[in-house]
Amino acid sequence: MPKIPINIATGSLQQPEIIVGIDLGTTNSLVAIIHPESKQPTALKEHNSASLVPSVVHFDAQGQATVGEAARNFLLTEPQNTIFSAKRLMGKTYADVQAQSGFFTYKIIDDQTDSLVKVQVGSRFYSPIELSSYILKELKTRAEHILKTPVTKAVITVPAYFNDAQRQATRDAGRLAGLDVLRIINEPTAASLAYGLGLNQAGEQTIAVYDLGGGTFDISILKITDGIFEVLSTNGNTYLGGDDVDRAIVNHWLNQTESQDLPENKALLQTYRLEAERAKKHLSTHSVFETALDGQHHTLTSEQLGSIVQPLLNQTLDCCRQALADAKLNVAQIDEVIMVGGSTRMPIIKTAVGQFFGKPVHDGVNPDEVVALGAAIQADILAGNNRQVLLLDVTPLSLGLETMGGLMDVLIPRNSKIPSRASRQYTTQKDGQSGMRISVYQGERDLVEHNRKLAEFNLTGIPGMPAGFPKVEVAFLINADGILQVSAKELRSGVSQSIDVQPQYGLTDAEVERLLLESLTHAEDDIATRALIEARTEGQQLLSTTEKFVGKNAALLTPQELTDTAMAMQALQLALTMTDKNLIQEKTEALNEVSRPYAERVMDQAIGQTMKGTKI
Ligand code: ADP
Ligand code: MG
Repeated sequence: MPKIPINIATGSLQQPEIIVGIDLGTTNSLVAIIHPESKQPTALKEHNSASLVPSVVHFDAQGQATVGEAARNFLLTEPQNTIFSAKRLMGKTYADVQAQSGFFTYKIIDDQTDSLVKVQVGSRFYSPIELSSYILKELKTRAEHILKTPVTKAVITVPAYFNDAQRQATRDAGRLAGLDVLRIINEPTAASLAYGLGLNQAGEQTIAVYDLGGGTFDISILKITDGIFEVLSTNGNTYLGGDDVDRAIVNHWLNQTESQDLPENKALLQTYRLEAERAKKHLSTHSVFETALDGQHHTLTSEQLGSIVQPLLNQTLDCCRQALADAKLNVAQIDEVIMVGGSTRMPIIKTAVGQFFGKPVHDGVNPDEVVALGAAIQADILAGNNRQVLLLDVTPLSLGLETMGGLMDVLIPRNSKIPSRASRQYTTQKDGQSGMRISVYQGERDLVEHNRKLAEFNLTGIPGMPAGFPKVEVAFLINADGILQVSAKELRSGVSQSIDVQPQYGLTDAEVERLLLESLTHAEDDIATRALIEARTEGQQLLSTTEKFVGKNAALLTPQELTDTAMAMQALQLALTMTDKNLIQEKTEALNEVSRPYAERVMDQAIGQTMKGTKI
């Protein structure tokens, strides 16, 4: 059998596999890789087309999605079917975005709950995760077409201020697009990597990353200590960017025409917007722009653009001041300033930011590609190709708990950064259960019996409660030395217990390699086994609840219902002795069908009685 080398630091296989870096932007998205020959980070593009893919999804009447430049053309003509800025909705509830609802020209559903927002297009509903997954799928397809090889692994960037829900949503979008998201990294961190900052460097550096994109402005202050990135502060404005400049240019032109009104004609307005953007870009390298629109001659000079941009620029500098104050630093303490985002191509911005920080800014790398290029560098490190660099300490194997049926429930996935923390809630299976065994495992397989047991302890003294009632929170904390602390706490009573484990200890490199290889070779079996165990657990649970229910409420059931239930229970019991997952599911569903009508009836009666008893 051929031997596959494994990078012990990252736990990743050293096969020449391609892991792509993806910048999933509010306005534009793109993919980059480390070029296999030149070893340079490279943004992927088809011949004679741009690397940037507008982050816009258009749905036609059949619900067929188009992404990118083609979709962008529908922005003004079919606003209700053309979704832009989906990134702003990631991990958000309606309450979160309500104040900005005027910004979105498509329909955002307010279901009066704190659940996550959905977007309605025609009769279909899409979550922001699905919308982002369309963009990621498009990027994946493009990359596969260019590289002529399947692309299944990626590093995706997110703004430094993204919270856990937003990061998780981004990860889910990747998975939905068929990508294994190995790491979510911060956009400013990626940009620093693209400038080589934080690579191979001992010592400490403080970096300001100024990112002005299409619709958002972010300033992040980072500290890099021996290759480890820490975000000291972030500030910005999520509704400020290049689009505002485009709109201001359109208004400037319209002020010069007789009508002075925004064109009623959406297509014409779209033409104006696009032409304004063209003017703005042109003026990054020229001093005058001239065009004819709707029979009118329009010009724009760099001075005029300068006065249009000035107020926006001042706002960004205010944010920079605030970010410095929050980081408790003054400008002199910033070692490097990095320019990110297409809008920083405007010379006036570069100059002003350089003046503000009192030093030349880094602008050598394409500002609209720099984040993706950095993500590609991180991807390459994860692939184990860039061996000189040990960017971050990571856990080589996943850490988790044994749950019902001997399944491995991963709390900290392999390749997670150290230090790291994760927690999850569990509950009891039996009425009055007073103890819970917490078994901690390390490894990639779905069944704990194939993984390595690290520790086990009992949480005891849980006060008597019905099954499913106690809330036991189990927390994993890996400190900077790689020591895992596991604690369990019953939240209703406060009973708790904890233990220290040294996860890596005692595992040789060869053993880590074996565990990883096994997880690869057994991946398919594991999925099948997991599905079978889950089906069985569900079946068993339904059997026992039905049994209890019938025992208590037999008097309220008809003889026909009693016999039907007994037969369905028998059939399920028989199925549970076999290894056919589909059969178990079928019989579980059948028992459900039989019991649902009378269960609902009995519940209604019970509720009715309680209501009668209450006095108003
Ligand atoms: P995001 O990170 O929000 O997805 P980008 O970094 O791709 O956005 O920036 C997009 C913005 O950059 C757009 O508003 C675009 O008009 C602007 N932009 C791109 N090139 C230039 C240029 N040469 N001069 C001025 N603005 C530019
Ligand atoms: Mg960006």
